[in-house]
Amino acid sequence: MKITSKASNRVPFVDLVRHHKPFQPAFAKILQTTVKESGFILAPSVTQFEDAFAAWTGSRFAVGLASGTDALHLALRATGVGPGDEVIIPAMTFAATALAVMYAGATPVTVDVRPSDGLIDPSAAEKAITPLTKAIIPVHLYGKPCDLITLKRIADTRGIKIIEDACQAHGALLGKRKAGTLGAAGCFSFYPSKNLGALGDGGMLVTDDPVIYESVRMLRNYGQRIRYHHDSFGFNSRLDGLQAAFLSAKLPHVDGWNELRRKHARHYLKGLRGLPIGPMGHDASETNDHIFHLFVVRTHERDALQSHLTAAGIETGIHYPFAVHQLGFAKGHVRATSAPEAERLATEGLSLPIFPEMTSSEVDRVIQSIKTFFAKKSGRRSGTED
Ligand SMILES: *Cc1c(COP(=O)(O)O)cnc(C)c1O
Repeated sequence: MKITSKASNRVPFVDLVRHHKPFQPAFAKILQTTVKESGFILAPSVTQFEDAFAAWTGSRFAVGLASGTDALHLALRATGVGPGDEVIIPAMTFAATALAVMYAGATPVTVDVRPSDGLIDPSAAEKAITPLTKAIIPVHLYGKPCDLITLKRIADTRGIKIIEDACQAHGALLGKRKAGTLGAAGCFSFYPSKNLGALGDGGMLVTDDPVIYESVRMLRNYGQRIRYHHDSFGFNSRLDGLQAAFLSAKLPHVDGWNELRRKHARHYLKGLRGLPIGPMGHDASETNDHIFHLFVVRTHERDALQSHLTAAGIETGIHYPFAVHQLGFAKGHVRATSAPEAERLATEGLSLPIFPEMTSSEVDRVIQSIKTFFAKKSGRRSGTED
């Protein structure tokens, strides 16, 4: 991940320097207070941020953790997932979704995604269910909510738990409810480039279930409820007090930042209309639920288009270049079901720059450059150019 771009002619993929500039005085004050008080671990700032985040998502409880990966891992343990169990995940997601299942000792079962938007296909998930299936992890990939209504219907009747990977979906809406609040637990990451990012690593689990809440609080703190009473097998996975304070300062701005991302997404959609690039579920009617952590287009010419944009000073990304079952660690550890759409997306998906502080002239530059790419191509094809 490139953090910033100062050169005027380049369009960065993400610009955290621009993002954090207005917070410099607030962050300096937080650091000063933290050093003055010097209570770093499970400091009052953690509880304050947990309460604020629970209220913002509309869930009863929130537990601050060291990362989004840990949130997934501990959510699985708290819902009783362990060795011998299977957990269904989409074949197209960040590797951490699968790794968390393996940390819990269970087997990730990958299923295909929908061609329209790259999200888990509920009918593929249903077909992959066996007597060993204990949980499904829908991933609200790119910031777009999965079809949780259908997934819940499939899971609830069979006693299968839904654990939402909302690591890319802070503030995305499913009807009136926020992503992360419909399953048994919702897992968030505060990796710096996420829609709400810390100044380092961090994560959060939200739940309405007091049993899961208490269990994850123990799991994150060496398995102790009372100091030195290690009643369960636990871990060290606490959200830093300092990060919690930084995150509390940023939280009130997330909805506004998401709105700016949606504005850029609409600009892209309008500008790219008519070009031979798939929209990845980004049609205008859906943009209100989507928080555009990423803006992904797809084309058979992905690699050529990416090179063209790189040459024009436009940074892009690929999320992700491999389906989960194609990754090195998966061999012998992941039960893969057929996932041609996920495999195709790995070769066709291209993430364009999107971040709240992006200017509309930057969006225009990206659009113009993509138009030039396809104009040159059709020129070549009809023999009028090159
Ligand atoms: C970022 C991310 C994670 C992992 O979060 P970390 O905080 O980096 O551990 C998991 N799943 C998805 C979909 C993510 O985007």
